[in-house]
Amino acid sequence: CGIFGIHGHQEAARHVALGLHALQHRGQEACGIVSYDGDQFHPHRAVGLVGDAFADERLMAQMAGTMGIGHVRYATTGGAGLRNIQPLYADFAFGGLAIAHNGNLTNALTLRSQLVQRGCIFQSTSDSEVIVHLIAISLYTDVVDKLIDALRQVHGAYSIVALTRDKLIGVRDPWGVRPLVIGKLDGAMMLASETCALDIIGAEFVRDVEPGEIVVIEQSGLRSIKPFPKTASRFCIFEHIYFARPDSVLENVSVYEARKRIGRELALESIVEADVVVPVPDSGVPAALGFSEQSGIPFDYGIIRNHYVGRTFIEPTDQIRHLGVKLKHNANVPMIKGKRVVLVDDSIVRGTTSTKIVNMVREAGAAEVHMRIASPPTTHPCFYGVDTPSREKLLAARMDIEEMARFINADSLAFISMDGLYRAMGEEGRNPVQPQYCDACFTGDYALPLTDGQVDGSDA
Ligand code: 5GP
Ligand code: SF4
Ligand code: MG
Repeated sequence: CGIFGIHGHQEAARHVALGLHALQHRGQEACGIVSYDGDQFHPHRAVGLVGDAFADERLMAQMAGTMGIGHVRYATTGGAGLRNIQPLYADFAFGGLAIAHNGNLTNALTLRSQLVQRGCIFQSTSDSEVIVHLIAISLYTDVVDKLIDALRQVHGAYSIVALTRDKLIGVRDPWGVRPLVIGKLDGAMMLASETCALDIIGAEFVRDVEPGEIVVIEQSGLRSIKPFPKTASRFCIFEHIYFARPDSVLENVSVYEARKRIGRELALESIVEADVVVPVPDSGVPAALGFSEQSGIPFDYGIIRNHYVGRTFIEPTDQIRHLGVKLKHNANVPMIKGKRVVLVDDSIVRGTTSTKIVNMVREAGAAEVHMRIASPPTTHPCFYGVDTPSREKLLAARMDIEEMARFINADSLAFISMDGLYRAMGEEGRNPVQPQYCDACFTGDYALPLTDGQVDGSDA
């Protein structure tokens, strides 16, 4: 998911809408904004894209106020129902509170059944709602203390923006799994999942919210609280591989440059004689450029993407996903015919995309097709906010690399090594004792506890 918040701007809701539009790649299922005008909260939530949901001029005019938060949704837990659309909004004795969450809680089911036993009535099936109930029942009086009290009880990954009558609050979980950055524009302050959402409104990047940090933004300025026990951070390495937008800078690393360096490492590790490097667009482009630069094999757009189709992975059913892939890519025959092609993509999950693309390139007359993947094999599901399928659907959980090569019909297949990936991220390699990133979907090393008994498949 993507989150955005702003404090101290005359046109808060419009800026939130613009910020969310820049974060649209983080979730296309639904979106919502809540603004506050000094008297009333104005919530609006809808299924679909930000540009459609917030196009109505009368709606935007109604969403008055100098503060607002918003969310773009990509379902991980809780399903697609209207009631699961965020920001969640609740009226409390102390006043209203709106909250938007990116990530996934790993003890939401455990907490939920405890809360239900205590008489809490849940409105949605989303994991994020437990935070609202924990705030509601907290015995602390100050809203920030209530939030801290609630977050001390949850496990898992969360970046959060929250809005009260006078505060914009931002939080990252102690591991800092999901991103959150601070920006400023004139006198206003903002919070966003990625820097690309600051760029769109011409705001200046201030800094990342730190892992385990709570920032409270109010009239008097920004204050920082670190209420959680300190732990080594575990930023999601998959944000750099795929999820974030390439023009974002996260944790001081340019996503685009990281992807290019991954492509370079991939070329160093698994070079192959070929005539052209072709990216699987768009996600494979920066890595393919890096691969081409390192190998000296020319880069060309041998596959053209139709931009009016959303990310295939996010479509709900297998059937639609199949259809989606065909709608999405087409071979650019003159760039491929008779050539030995290196195809570069960011990841193989189910293997659907790779199989389609390899066969498409063969049908376009390629002499050879070599697949190179800018991540290690995805062997485990993510329980921290990225929607990977269950373990038995992951191609790399079922097959070794040779079997996968045969399955996708490629002449050769190689993935970047784990150390190669960490080198591309500027490290000497993966620190086996204290890995610098979360990489559980490639290693099964789940650093954040899986309290609800999520099946990690580690014994399979
Ligand atoms: P597959 O077709 O193998 O199931 O998925 C791989 C493709 O899905 C890649 O091209 C990758 O860019 C794309 N993809 C889109 N969303 C996601 C996601 O949330 N996780 C992963 N691992 N890949 C995704
Ligand atoms: Fe990111 Fe993978 Fe960790 Fe999920 S399991 S947070 S996708 S690195
Ligand atoms: Mg892709």
